[in-house]
Amino acid sequence: MEPVNKGAVLVCSECGVELEVIKNCECSNCEIVCCGKAMEVKEKSSGDSCCC
Ligand SMILES: [Zn+2]
Repeated sequence: MEPVNKGAVLVCSECGVELEVIKNCECSNCEIVCCGKAMEVKEKSSGDSCCC
């Protein structure tokens, strides 16, 4: 998996938890695991439903 950068959102396909990265990862092989599976990078949604 590519190293994750600040602002990236990771999602667990098992339980659906979402994490936001607040510091860049400098590992060559970044694997953040939840529920025993590597988490996936969620598509950054620019159009977040904001009412204001
Ligand atoms: Zn999980």
